[in-house]
Amino acid sequence: MPYNTDGMVVKIDSQQQREKLGYTSKSPRWVIAYKYPAEQVQTILKDVTWQVGKNGTLTPVAELEPVFVAGTTVKRASLHNIEQIQRLGLHLGDIVTVEKAGEIIPQVVGVDANRRKPDAKPVLPPSVCPSCGSRVEKEPDGPYIRCENPSCPAQLKERLRHFAARGQMNIEHLGEALIDQLVDSGKVKSFADLFRITKDDLLTLERMGSKSADNVIASIQEARSRSLDRLLAGLGIRHVGTTVARLLASSLGSLDALAGATVEQLGSISGVGPIIAQAVYDFFHSDAGQTVIRDLKSVGIDPKQTGGAPTNDQILTGQSIVVTGTLQNFDRQQIEDLIVSLGGKAVGSVSRNTSFVLAGENAGSKLDKARSLGIPILTESEFLKKIGRT
Ligand SMILES: [Zn+2]
Repeated sequence: MPYNTDGMVVKIDSQQQREKLGYTSKSPRWVIAYKYPAEQVQTILKDVTWQVGKNGTLTPVAELEPVFVAGTTVKRASLHNIEQIQRLGLHLGDIVTVEKAGEIIPQVVGVDANRRKPDAKPVLPPSVCPSCGSRVEKEPDGPYIRCENPSCPAQLKERLRHFAARGQMNIEHLGEALIDQLVDSGKVKSFADLFRITKDDLLTLERMGSKSADNVIASIQEARSRSLDRLLAGLGIRHVGTTVARLLASSLGSLDALAGATVEQLGSISGVGPIIAQAVYDFFHSDAGQTVIRDLKSVGIDPKQTGGAPTNDQILTGQSIVVTGTLQNFDRQQIEDLIVSLGGKAVGSVSRNTSFVLAGENAGSKLDKARSLGIPILTESEFLKKIGRT
């Protein structure tokens, strides 16, 4: 083929043979994937920089002499944490081996210590945050180094990026570069500040025209209607991703109820373990967390979610639903949110326990499997009729 691939999928052509082979509980027996081994190259480690994550974790990044590997030129590669650097014994100027894990993210996997110059300096952990200059701390029980400054600009930028991302508040026109500008200019210091931005604020920024400013404001205002679970997932509370956020939102229903819940109450929610419960409790009882919530409420962000016991609205209660193909009215996240809000469970693969499959355009092997198991298949309009939305 005239382009790079990371492997191939081999399928049986004959429908008869496919039927004969059938399925395991996870996948069809008539198709198998082969991955090629990762391509490795050597290059020079020029420097190691430290990136600050949304919770203050500092991640080392190898700055490399540009090198061509598996189809692209690589200049930077992940080093995971300081223990990885120490395990490899990295020195600046080393000849290192780089490969692409899953052919996408480049990683440093080895070093040629024999070719090291005698005066080469070992790579050391930073003592201060590269963004704000605060002293950093090493986690006592883990390999990570953290900046503990709650107003560190690099952390704020990462938190805002996460907050605005598609699976969370989905603020379409708030891109990376704009977040950098808003933080660097001091216009945005918190999530709530996003909802305080005016068109005039935006017009003072470089490369911002009247039309783009309108689009930014419109997409921020649209985010005001996001559900509680999306807001919770966006806050960057440790261990709280999309799934946990949904569980918390549907059991407790409001920010006030979350703030008032004890660790025991949080931990008694099915799917929320003691570590998550403690992290949520800590967030809602920390000064920083309480400031975030108070601030969001002051700009009118305080979504309520009906939840708890199934009501008449929850007509999908107890049903396990697989979505496949492209839908006209929903993206994947939206349809999953809708299924969950109606009491159902959105699952990834078809099994005998699947209640029905919702099939959009270009549905693939999941549809075949549903047919072979005799699982009911609904089109998008049949689904909308079922939930009373036509
Ligand atoms: Zn910092």
